[in-house]
Amino acid sequence: MALTGLQIFKLLPKTNCKDCGMPTCLAFAMALAQKKAKLDDCPHASDEAKSSLAEAAAPPIKLVKFGTGDAEVQVGQETVMFRHDEKFYNPTVIAVTVSDSLSGDELNQRIEQVNGLQFERVGQKIGVKAVAVLNESGNAEIFAAAAEAVKAKSTLAMILYTESADALAAAAGKVADAKPLLGVATTESAAAVGKIAKDNGCPVIAQADSVEGLADLTEKLKEAGVEDVVLSLKAPTLKEQLYGLSQIRAVALKKNFRPLGFPTISCVLEGAAAEQSAQVMAFSCKFSSIVLVETVEKFAILPILTSIMNIFTDPQKPVQVEAKLYEVGEPDENSPVLFTTNFSLTYYTVESDVEASRVPCYILVVDTEGTSVLTAYSGDKLNEKIVAAAIKKTDLENKVKHRTLIIPGYVAVMSGKLEEESGWEVKVGPRESSVLPKFMQEVV
Ligand code: SF4
Repeated sequence: MALTGLQIFKLLPKTNCKDCGMPTCLAFAMALAQKKAKLDDCPHASDEAKSSLAEAAAPPIKLVKFGTGDAEVQVGQETVMFRHDEKFYNPTVIAVTVSDSLSGDELNQRIEQVNGLQFERVGQKIGVKAVAVLNESGNAEIFAAAAEAVKAKSTLAMILYTESADALAAAAGKVADAKPLLGVATTESAAAVGKIAKDNGCPVIAQADSVEGLADLTEKLKEAGVEDVVLSLKAPTLKEQLYGLSQIRAVALKKNFRPLGFPTISCVLEGAAAEQSAQVMAFSCKFSSIVLVETVEKFAILPILTSIMNIFTDPQKPVQVEAKLYEVGEPDENSPVLFTTNFSLTYYTVESDVEASRVPCYILVVDTEGTSVLTAYSGDKLNEKIVAAAIKKTDLENKVKHRTLIIPGYVAVMSGKLEEESGWEVKVGPRESSVLPKFMQEVV
């Protein structure tokens, strides 16, 4: 269990030297207990103190990695129940299943479909990060062959998913260098699966039908020498599963209960594609670190990835694009110039609406710390001086012959001051970006 601030204080040198950046050893101890400081920040702690304090400094939910190189994924290490408390760290990994009952062309086609589930949204790449090989054939050799085929043809991290320890041993032996996540270990198979994981240096999925059962199972796996575990709770309904996952997160974070301090995995293997999509989104909200899903339909996968992207962004840091001059189409010295802010959603909305007009133009993106037009203007992150400075900085005056700037309709009020500050004539654009295609074609 975690040490209290006073227990930690007793282990520190108590010299109040301030080398850790804290005024006293007691202040440092309190910060360490609340996980607001790192033990390494105190250069004078003894080895004995370090080993006693290691547990207090360790994250309440362990970081687990699988896959290698560019395909490596990491899950866990979360520190809060709710995103707005701080932020979530490691986005839910979506793993699409590949059954070993497929073979030949069918198997290759399925692997290609999974590989192709990559998208771009608001300038960021999002995609499926893992392939889960399912042992539906019930045969160890076939399972091992499917795992080898996935390793050869997929660029994603791999999960081996079977209830047979023999099949798991056969497949893990073939693809161990890809460091797959191995599953599943149950109370009955813990010793055998633990040995396979230890021999191959891979993390393990521990599966039980109760939260208490999972806590016992992780202790068994620990005895077998397995430290990297992912928890799989088998509950009869979605509601019970979400409730259990919430319990696990709460006990791990609030009680620092180490036997449940691991990332979690859930499975959505049945149902229509849209139904699977909705279930996966529920699991990614509460609190699955990995979700196995059967569908390869892009219309079902993209909303999942979009929702994960939103949940796992830092609520204190809006998603931003670089503040600079962007070209839409092939603008020349007579092309119109618009300006907007560097909030990603604003920029990409404006860009796509301008693109739809088929009028080549420049978009001057002003740095407003990632806030939208009205928010930036209200907070004085957008004013005539900032826009005039951006015009100069981007060398816009040498790109176009004219001196007309189209500004968002919501900040029409800054027109006069902006004209005085920049020397450019201001033309007020529409308030809503969706009107831009018509505006660009008819007014510009
Ligand atoms: Fe105390 Fe260590 Fe901080 Fe010095 S660096 S004040 S000894 S906790």
